[in-house]
Amino acid sequence: MAAAAVVAMMAVSCGVVSFTGRKQLAFFPDSEIMALSEKSYVELMKGEKVSSNAADAKLVKEVGNRMVSALREYMKSSGQSSTMSGLVWEFVLVESPQVNAFCMPSGKIVFYEGILEYADTPDYIAVVMGHEMAHAIARHGNERMSQQLAVNFLGNVAGRVIGEQKGEVAQSLFEIGFGIGAKAGVMLPYSRKHEYEADKIGMYLMDIAGYDVNAAPQFWERMLNGKGAGESDFFSTHPSDAKRIAALKEAIKTKPSFK
Ligand SMILES: [Zn+2]
Repeated sequence: MAAAAVVAMMAVSCGVVSFTGRKQLAFFPDSEIMALSEKSYVELMKGEKVSSNAADAKLVKEVGNRMVSALREYMKSSGQSSTMSGLVWEFVLVESPQVNAFCMPSGKIVFYEGILEYADTPDYIAVVMGHEMAHAIARHGNERMSQQLAVNFLGNVAGRVIGEQKGEVAQSLFEIGFGIGAKAGVMLPYSRKHEYEADKIGMYLMDIAGYDVNAAPQFWERMLNGKGAGESDFFSTHPSDAKRIAALKEAIKTKPSFK
């Protein structure tokens, strides 16, 4: 009975990813994900120092703002403004040699100074920015939590979810999904499917904002040829290989027009 109830609930909890049209499991209300995400972001930032490099911090913010305003305009003109609802964008550069960047599901994007070694032009910054924004826009966090719930639903979790403790379950799934609490600043890697989708949508966002989309495969080639990848950096959560680069080049060839 419990299992059937959960299956029924999940059947009606599907979302559709903007730009790709892929159907996804999205069991949690956006408001819940956003609240958990904001709370974790505040915690996480307590352990980080904002960069004192004003020029670089400004550049990261400029690219982020340009992409968000172009995207807002595009979404508005194509009647998809709801895709952006609840997302509160913010772009922060953190003082750290780590080659890393991440996005909270609520739209908070953090760059670590080290990644600017590879993303050293506005176009390259837009590659990372677009990719990270895409994870939030495509609701990958909600989907991952929903998948975890689906995996666990035959165990103890299912019973509790149906009961009053749904909020607690969401909190623990969020922690599992994002590795929050384990090690600040380290996001668990997304699946390959999510990574490829974020690459594609991120490249679309670059195009909408007028950046050079060819910088995307070039950036991943730079990462692939880079050295000294650490265990907690961007490369470990975003493995770059020939397949990834080829998929991106193919996506550029078949890209729709956003004009
Ligand atoms: Zn990613």
